[in-house]
Amino acid sequence: MDFTLPEELLIFRETVRKFVEKELEPISEQVEEEDRIPGHIVEKMKELGLFGLAIPQDSGGYGMSVLGQCVAMEELSRTNACFRTRIGTNNGIGSMGIVIAGTQEQKRKYLPKLASGEMIGAFALTEPNAGSDASAIRTTAVRKGDTYLLNGTKHFITNGDIADVSTVMALTDRSKGARGISAFLVDKGLPGFSVGKLEKKMGFRGSTTCELIFDDCEVPAANLLGREGEGFRIAMQVLDKGRLTMGACALGALEKLLELSMEYAKTRVTFGEPIINRQAIQWMLVNMAIDAYAVRNAVYHAAWKLDRGERVTKEAAMVKVLATEAAGRAADSAVQIHGGMGYMKGMAVERFYRDLRLLRIYEGTSEILRMIVAREMTR
Ligand SMILES: Cc1cc2nc3c(=O)[nH]c(=O)nc-3n(C[C@H](O)[C@H](O)[C@H](O)COP(=O)(O)OP(=O)(O)OC[C@H]3O[C@@H](n4cnc5c(N)ncnc54)[C@H](O)[C@@H]3O)c2cc1C
Repeated sequence: MDFTLPEELLIFRETVRKFVEKELEPISEQVEEEDRIPGHIVEKMKELGLFGLAIPQDSGGYGMSVLGQCVAMEELSRTNACFRTRIGTNNGIGSMGIVIAGTQEQKRKYLPKLASGEMIGAFALTEPNAGSDASAIRTTAVRKGDTYLLNGTKHFITNGDIADVSTVMALTDRSKGARGISAFLVDKGLPGFSVGKLEKKMGFRGSTTCELIFDDCEVPAANLLGREGEGFRIAMQVLDKGRLTMGACALGALEKLLELSMEYAKTRVTFGEPIINRQAIQWMLVNMAIDAYAVRNAVYHAAWKLDRGERVTKEAAMVKVLATEAAGRAADSAVQIHGGMGYMKGMAVERFYRDLRLLRIYEGTSEILRMIVAREMTR
């Protein structure tokens, strides 16, 4: 067994870390205030090629290993979560359906532009009555000549308002349940397609979440992704990888929280001594370090398995639960270690505390992921 990361990944990690420290972290509070990422920062992300890490080389991306993508997400998650969300959507749920099931024409049309960052992608599965129970979606797609007529409402869609192309799940055959779901590539501006309510959230400021409304929206039949009835399978494949990289995001945040807490504990003096000398504080720090160690090994191992072409449905679900719950505990401890300061706006730990709460909910709640693991264990 060799646990060393390849040399090129170590160099890549360093490049991303420098970008985070030099360009992203200094404006993380500004972004939090303004609730938007400045355009010049998006341009710098494009210059670094960050939008195309996961997209194959023959489609204009880097075709990076899943392990490499995890390293990138780990580093990008050491600052405001909106940055890695913007980058991660194009590398994940916003493009992976096309990578997995796209025709040559669909790949040519969308992937190079998603890889360069010229296009923004989104993924629209969730509906007001269908979140965890994703196969209960009600949006319909009815074939009419060379088009499909889409009707229905999606909600909680990341980037939905700014996306140039959204991978949208809709029922082509209600009688078949999940096997009656198909995936469509819906371009911005199609008649009958509009953006509804923009959500106000607990955290993730700088990243938009909204409703998408389809009212007799005519989608060209050429925009069907895969075959009719394959939508749910495509969505689950997209989510398998997404859950793994989400584990890497939780890992990066956890590591940063540990560093911030160590620094604070060394300098905060109470009763004549730095609080890091107190066992109560040390144990919180130690528990964070133990979690980081376990999570790092689990994330990298599952990524290695996926890179070998193995099915990782169980591992990805386990990694997301392990990593996001550990990051949640770390955020709680970090606020505690910072005392009253930890509760104040402008403190990174306060922002991490709110942002990390989402990780146990989207791309599969902890409860649903435990159900997946149970199903895999009893197959
Ligand atoms: C900020 C944000 C961004 C998002 N981005 C996207 C996106 O880009 N695209 C997209 O399609 N979706 C997106 N989502 C939706 C997200 O994936 C769902 O919110 C999530 O899957 C949970 O669904 P729900 O909200 O309907 O909760 P529900 O399914 O209503 O669940 C409510 C609670 O019940 C539990 N529960 C449900 N069923 C069971 C069961 N059988 N056994 C035990 N417990 C159960 C759940 O775990 C949860 O605790 C986003 C959500 C948020 C908040």
